[in-house]
Amino acid sequence: NKLGVALVGLGKYATGELIPSLQITQNCYLAGLVSGSEEKKLKYQQEFGLKDESLYSYDDFDRIADNPDIDIVYVVLPNFMHAEYCIRAARAGKHVICEKPLAMNVDECYRVAEAVRQANVRFSMGYRLHFDPFNQEMMRLGQKEVFGPVKKLELLDSMDIGTETPWRVDRERAGGGPLVNNGIYCIQAAIYITGKLPVAVEARFAPVTNPDRFSEVEEGVIWTMFFEDGVTAHCETSYSKNQNLMRAEGSEGWFELNPAYEYKGLVGRTSSGAMDIEPVKQQARQMDDFARCIIENTETRVPIEMGIRDMQIIEAVYASARAGDRVELHLEAFENLPE
Ligand code: NAD
Repeated sequence: NKLGVALVGLGKYATGELIPSLQITQNCYLAGLVSGSEEKKLKYQQEFGLKDESLYSYDDFDRIADNPDIDIVYVVLPNFMHAEYCIRAARAGKHVICEKPLAMNVDECYRVAEAVRQANVRFSMGYRLHFDPFNQEMMRLGQKEVFGPVKKLELLDSMDIGTETPWRVDRERAGGGPLVNNGIYCIQAAIYITGKLPVAVEARFAPVTNPDRFSEVEEGVIWTMFFEDGVTAHCETSYSKNQNLMRAEGSEGWFELNPAYEYKGLVGRTSSGAMDIEPVKQQARQMDDFARCIIENTETRVPIEMGIRDMQIIEAVYASARAGDRVELHLEAFENLPE
């Protein structure tokens, strides 16, 4: 009684991370593929023994409604296609996992949420770090105030993208630059370490060093998230350098991951010593947890509200960077159930 997962989009993340992860999941398995490439579908069909009727193109994707083998549709497409395919999956009566960012803007996020509500299906964001034990330890140390209340955070997630995946620097297809791709993890971390929502942001765009490449989306953003009681998170994201730090300072000590946001090789330290943690396959845990939530009818830790909230913060960061001014946030808390 494992749940069948269909991947929509067979790009780098789906083939490099999700397909291998689905070979070790306990509660779900690879049951279908949606892609424009016959060649790719055939390759994975042969490798994993998928049924002919569980392979779809983008055009005939809606027929997935009639396929009882597929319970969950995992949308792993460029950002501009997220909303459309999440909505089509929900209307087909399938549960949905969507890669980050949820959509191109807050309005689109609400459209997805409405379709999910109407279809009465379950929804999960693809936020893998909530299932990573190093990041879970950062949540515990911060939220339980193990080193005293957290006063200051430093969150840097940048990657030099070179000339890979052109859609990422294309406004129409990505919606934004490194902020929506990497910076979203800094936003996530600030909230899951403090356990609080930011009340304001102040941002500026980094200087553009490669104007040919970054003519449509930002090359980098530097921003501060303000929390109650003077707590601040200093954040940076860029597409032209590599940074991977998550550091928290409490009143009685510090704790950090470096690297912090990668799929593997994370290293954790605190002011009282190294973190001794066994790594796991994040994506396998993430998909297994969602399948379990569906089977047991319990809430996911990474609900659609979280994807909407992060997009609200992203829009505020862009608004602040454009205006050169602080932007206040009025975010609604939602039930985010702990483990
Ligand atoms: P990718 O470019 O490697 O894959 C995208 C796939 O979409 C390709 O197979 C491409 O052929 C297909 N596609 C269909 N229509 C397209 C169109 N009109 N334009 C461009 N491509 C089209 O990208 P990726 O790195 O696999 O990212 C896919 C999604 O997964 C993104 O939303 C990204 O944010 C997310 N992602 C998440 C993580 C994570 O750690 N959670 C990591 C990487 C990517």
